[in-house]
Amino acid sequence: MDFNTLKKRENKSLMHTYGRFDIALDHGKGSKLYDLDGNEYIDLTSGIGVNALGHGHEALVTAIREQAGKLMQASNLFYTEPMVDAAERLADSTGMAKVFFANSGAEANEGMIKIARKYSADKYGPSRTKILTLKNSFHGRTVATLEATGQDKFHQNFYPFTGGFDYVEAGSLEDLKRMMDDPAVAGIMMELIQGESGVRPLDPAFVQEAARLAREKDILFMADEVQTGIGRTGSLFCWQQYGIEPDLTSCAKALGGGVPIGAVLAADKVADVLEPGDHGTTFGGNPLASAAARTVLDIVDQPAFLADVKEKGQYFMDRIRNLNKESVQDVRGLGLMIGLQVGADKVSEYLAALQKKGVLALKAGTDTIRLLPPLIITKEEIDQAVAAMDDVFE
Ligand SMILES: *Cc1c(COP(=O)(O)O)cnc(C)c1O
Repeated sequence: MDFNTLKKRENKSLMHTYGRFDIALDHGKGSKLYDLDGNEYIDLTSGIGVNALGHGHEALVTAIREQAGKLMQASNLFYTEPMVDAAERLADSTGMAKVFFANSGAEANEGMIKIARKYSADKYGPSRTKILTLKNSFHGRTVATLEATGQDKFHQNFYPFTGGFDYVEAGSLEDLKRMMDDPAVAGIMMELIQGESGVRPLDPAFVQEAARLAREKDILFMADEVQTGIGRTGSLFCWQQYGIEPDLTSCAKALGGGVPIGAVLAADKVADVLEPGDHGTTFGGNPLASAAARTVLDIVDQPAFLADVKEKGQYFMDRIRNLNKESVQDVRGLGLMIGLQVGADKVSEYLAALQKKGVLALKAGTDTIRLLPPLIITKEEIDQAVAAMDDVFE
């Protein structure tokens, strides 16, 4: 199959929801990807933060292959061991009490929203239902998580929404205090590093104050760790570096290492809010996805692995800063979640030029190149990527 034929077939058979790059990926190994024509790339995308262990990771492939031959799906009408193993690993290493498995980030966030609303309704009655999120946030594409997303451009054409969301200016303590004073607020949800809108780490003082106010007012604090979770920032969850303990946290992207799975983790206080019949999903925690998650957690959730992510992230950012390129206005991030602000007029041009040099990267917001390499990337591969950036950036 040649690229142009495939592109034509895609155009005819798939809805035009995505602006795709003109590359058809065929296979990968480690941090390398290969297209249909056999061109090699260094992958700084990880399928948008998913392939934490890179491509074709032996232990992960073996685990998936073995589980596929044994039992893939059982439904939540039965007990299965991989699901319990994966939940125990998530709870044990975070201090959270219980887990609910879903299939995507948006679905995990929906679960958090439902728990917050039920907790509040049970305790305070039906008028305390509002969920605060932040401006420039991203929480997903379902109707409720779209409304939770604090960016108007995603909302157009999809009204009416469910209602019950309001948006706080990210980083503004004044706005935060004012809006958390609203007696209708049941929860506050935030990404600690705003990913889609430009890789913007929140000020820890802002996050800590939000968590403190939430505790004081019995508002649930929800950390959306769909992108930052599972080792991406150098700790299993990013909140472990922000000095807070959320009531609820979601994860998805990297959890299955490439197999779709999401999860909600609940602290003791809210671990039993959902009761039989309140929530569910057919595929959630199925043996195949859970076996993948169990293996990813066994590998990623090790002090040496996480320290290595942190160190390589620092190395990557230092190397880019040392290029001293005028076109790179800012380098920011944590661990291997890195944003290079280059300006709205340059992002697409630079991404295309990097592709020609065998480096795949992402866009975030309007003006930022986003790097989410596999967590197993080597320093040599980082050096190769930086050399390409040295050629491309002015
Ligand atoms: C990707 C992402 C989501 C949505 O996850 P899906 O799996 O695409 O539904 C939600 N929140 C954050 C922070 C994300 O990065």
